[in-house]
Amino acid sequence: MSSSTGTERPALRLAGVSATYGFGRRAAPVIRDVSLRVAPGRTMGVVGESGSGKSTLAKVVVGLVHISAGTVEVDGTDVAAAKGAQRRSLRRRVQLIPQDPYASLDPRMTIGRTLLEALAPRRETASADHRQQIEELLRLVALEPDAARRRPHEFSGGQRQRIAIARAIAVRPALLVADEVTSALDASIQFEILDLLDRLQQEIGFGCVFITHNLGVAARMCDDITVMRAGRVVEQGPIAMLAAPTDPYTRLLVGSVPDPAGEFLRAPSAYEAPVAS
Ligand code: ADP
Ligand code: MG
Repeated sequence: MSSSTGTERPALRLAGVSATYGFGRRAAPVIRDVSLRVAPGRTMGVVGESGSGKSTLAKVVVGLVHISAGTVEVDGTDVAAAKGAQRRSLRRRVQLIPQDPYASLDPRMTIGRTLLEALAPRRETASADHRQQIEELLRLVALEPDAARRRPHEFSGGQRQRIAIARAIAVRPALLVADEVTSALDASIQFEILDLLDRLQQEIGFGCVFITHNLGVAARMCDDITVMRAGRVVEQGPIAMLAAPTDPYTRLLVGSVPDPAGEFLRAPSAYEAPVAS
């Protein structure tokens, strides 16, 4: 956590954002009037039941889904107003880590090649400088240097998520959007990945939108929290809010968490993740 005052330029600001899938009479609003703000170095959790619009919100933030109302500002720049080179540079300032790294990694490409594409999109071969940067990225996510020569199928699920994280941080983004990044992993591997994200955030200082359906994981990771239902924000505030929610739907969500998680929802700071092995 940073000592953010809330007056500095936010990594992300959404104001009154709505988004719709389909056109004409088939148009279905999926995100309705969503506002939120993420300061540099801070993490905003987004929670809510399946189908509440969390992944659509992630896609809005990284520009994969167009908005029908409102504004999206990344690192102080209005995404809709940015043109040409400014738009391209903005696209690099915000990075998405998807839930399934296997689907997002090209199976034919070595990890070194994947990371080179993130660092220098049009380069055919890595310069000595690039090779050094790739080695540094692998070190940051605690993978061996020889991972650069291997392909995605040679890695475990947790290792592949580390590769996806390395690719996302390659350009030192202002904002990272993590959509259910640990949901497919075993509990012990989840803790390692969460610790890794925490450490990288301290080192790089990116703001983070952390999407999860797991309130325990949210309590572990987030400074602030946005609770969504049917595309709308039903409650928003500091993470401690989960200990005493005012909204009936949030109360229902918190109440449905099994007891151990409930324990650390009441005392998030007392919770310690196991040390990575
Ligand atoms: P969550 O990530 O919270 O589970 P999603 O953002 O994936 O929610 O989905 C929100 C709603 O939008 C759901 O009703 C879903 O069926 C619908 N939806 C998601 N993707 C599309 C799409 N490409 N086209 C039309 N509807 C979609
Ligand atoms: Mg989703």
